[in-house]
Amino acid sequence: MPFTPLNLELETRTEQGLLRRRRLLDSPQDVHLLADGKPYLSFCSNDYLGLASDPRLTAAMQRGAAEWGVGSGASHLVSGHFSPHHELEVALAKFVGKPEALLFSTGYLANLGVVQALVGRDDGVFADKLNHASLNDAMLLSRAEVQRYRHNDVEHLALLLEKSTSKRKLIITDTVFSMDGDLAPLPELLALCEQHDAWLLVDDAHGFGVVGDQGRGALSNFGLSSPRIIYMATLGKAAGISGAFVAAEPVVIDTLVNQARSYIYTTASSPALSVALLESLNIIRVEGWRRERLQELIQILRAGLTELPWKLMSSATPIQPLLVGGNQDAVELSDGLRARGILVPAIRPPTVPQGTARLRISLSAAHTEADVNQLIEALHELAC
Ligand code: PMP
Repeated sequence: MPFTPLNLELETRTEQGLLRRRRLLDSPQDVHLLADGKPYLSFCSNDYLGLASDPRLTAAMQRGAAEWGVGSGASHLVSGHFSPHHELEVALAKFVGKPEALLFSTGYLANLGVVQALVGRDDGVFADKLNHASLNDAMLLSRAEVQRYRHNDVEHLALLLEKSTSKRKLIITDTVFSMDGDLAPLPELLALCEQHDAWLLVDDAHGFGVVGDQGRGALSNFGLSSPRIIYMATLGKAAGISGAFVAAEPVVIDTLVNQARSYIYTTASSPALSVALLESLNIIRVEGWRRERLQELIQILRAGLTELPWKLMSSATPIQPLLVGGNQDAVELSDGLRARGILVPAIRPPTVPQGTARLRISLSAAHTEADVNQLIEALHELAC
């Protein structure tokens, strides 16, 4: 058999409780959904504001498709850059308080493109150890010298910067850490950038739409504004659709258009998506009740899970990880919830460090108090 080595690898993964499998959904993305033919209450998605199946966005997508067709037909630089893309870029830049923005097809591609375009062989990248996988891949692709600092440890980062002889220095961090839910110390990181003439790339995938005034994201949350900051966020989480953007100084955006390979060599997203995203941006801005609801649900969940053998990690965001430890234990807990009609994913290494397998509970503004109480009760039953 030509693929025997692959079979062996998959068997090892299975033995270690690390085999990944997909689940087939037969209903729209929502907190109540049909998966593998069964109804579930879901705490799995990143649809934090509950917009993924909002009828207004569906209608906007239909309008967009009727006016612009379904495909862009080419990359942005060839003939795939349409007015809705441009309009969305202008609106996103204004929303996050940056001069310009550039759309990418996904956040993964945005991160690969930015890091590869901005730094190379003689440069240094300084990255938080718990950054998202796409940022880690981006650093390797860039060929810059990579140094990883301990999670949110500004003093460790300062030491690395002091020793560095790299030409350009780029500090990279998630704003809201995707598997922990905690926030990066952005003001301190920016101060270090100023001290060491470095640039700061912030990945606000989980902050955009959720934190900051009107959901404007992590920079607004901390009241930060600096040309040194290169802001990136995804549009497949709180914005409910898909895509991503980078917002920065015009010179950075022009550099990306000219150098970011994941921007240049890929088909532009459908202009209909941009029409729907403009509608989503408006909802994010005006429907503050969605963020208020999230805060209420976070309080209810945290108050309800204090007396369990597993501890909630410290987080004030809709990402509420319940630390379990062992891989198999996390899988069993997730299976136990699934048997009770509740979906919560078990997150295991290498996505998180060894010994810190966890249930990643994601809350959505579409959850009700009763939904959260159902999860709390099920976890108490499983703890007995
Ligand atoms: N950055 C972070 C922090 C993420 O969590 C994700 C998605 N899981 C991405 C980037 C990638 O974004 P996308 O899903 O749009 O590719």
